[in-house]
Amino acid sequence: GQCVSVCPTASLTEVHYIPDVWNAINAEGKHVVVQTAPAVRVALGEEFGYEPGTIVTGKMVAALRSLGFDSVFDTDFAADLTIMEEASEFVHRLQHGGKLPILTSCCPGWIQLLEHSFPDMLDIPSTCKSPHQMFGAITKTYFAEKMNINPKDIIVVSVMPCLAKKFEAHRPEMEYEGNRDVDIVISTRELAKMIKEAGIDFTSLEDEDFDNPLGVSSGAGDIFAASGGVLEAAVRTAAEMVTGKAGEPIEFIDVRGYDGIKEASIDIDGTNVKVAVTNGLGNARKILNDIKAGKAEYHIIEIMACPGGCIGGGGQPYIHGDSDILKKRIEAIYKEDANKELRKSHENPYIKKLYDEYLGEPYGTKAHEMLHTHFTPKRSGITHETPNDVKKPNTDK
Ligand code: SF4
Repeated sequence: GQCVSVCPTASLTEVHYIPDVWNAINAEGKHVVVQTAPAVRVALGEEFGYEPGTIVTGKMVAALRSLGFDSVFDTDFAADLTIMEEASEFVHRLQHGGKLPILTSCCPGWIQLLEHSFPDMLDIPSTCKSPHQMFGAITKTYFAEKMNINPKDIIVVSVMPCLAKKFEAHRPEMEYEGNRDVDIVISTRELAKMIKEAGIDFTSLEDEDFDNPLGVSSGAGDIFAASGGVLEAAVRTAAEMVTGKAGEPIEFIDVRGYDGIKEASIDIDGTNVKVAVTNGLGNARKILNDIKAGKAEYHIIEIMACPGGCIGGGGQPYIHGDSDILKKRIEAIYKEDANKELRKSHENPYIKKLYDEYLGEPYGTKAHEMLHTHFTPKRSGITHETPNDVKKPNTDK
């Protein structure tokens, strides 16, 4: 029978896709690409006896290669891409009198809440697809062209800390030119299970690096995993887009951690930009009500459905109520960022190349077609993904 577990946000149940991934890997003539979200590398080790907060990126990449994936890429690369688009969109709204606050759109958990409960506010979030969806669109176009592979022969598998991403990947609008951005989503726990099923001795693996060009990322891409990180990454880039000057990477210490609603402000070229960060669906609802009532005077708001952000996602190793584990995962994420030479999304050379060779301008026409989406009012009360509707991705058009 189908194995189902429950998301801590209580909004979704999990459907397991391990057999689909094995089928993809074993299929003739398919190029199977895997991408891993920033939060996976700081939690996967827990399934193999490592201390919480141990970063196992190199072993994770080696394990994915042993499992038989043809290309092992990093969602962090696409997190940098998301920042390019989201920061450009923010600057555009700021300079052209567009709707503010802009809300981050990379968490399908809260987007679902918005579509169900705030149908008159659908023009507030950024229109950016989330990083793994952007990644899929780029893989089946830019990468497919570079490698001379028919996009129909590429299968994109996302390893995510999240159960809502499974639902998001099946949204009808998450495609480009008839190809689904992402074909299969598995959770961090499912990846651990696959590694065990395959008999791979994880702890004795030698570290390996991601493949290129979709495997290089900045520290800004890493911090997407923690509450406050998307906003910090976006402001690092937006500030330099506005001023045209490169400085030390901005560190928004005040919006880190897992308090419910956090605030900060920063001067960008004479504008006092006010930001807020929330995590947890109850706080999301509160801030959306404040916006509706005209009481939230912010320029940018980051909203994440899970406690502490994606590091506390419903697909992560179980923490059994131990919030110290979340703290350690968060510390590990910021350590990754601080140790990187590249810390700003717009300085990622592969991102620059992608725009130069393929996309043109950030927030331009091609980027819009491939990397942006829209939101639709949903009937309220239907918040559960069921095994039946996830198997039929295109039927809810
Ligand atoms: Fe998924 Fe939770 Fe992250 Fe939202 S915060 S994207 S629901 S893991």
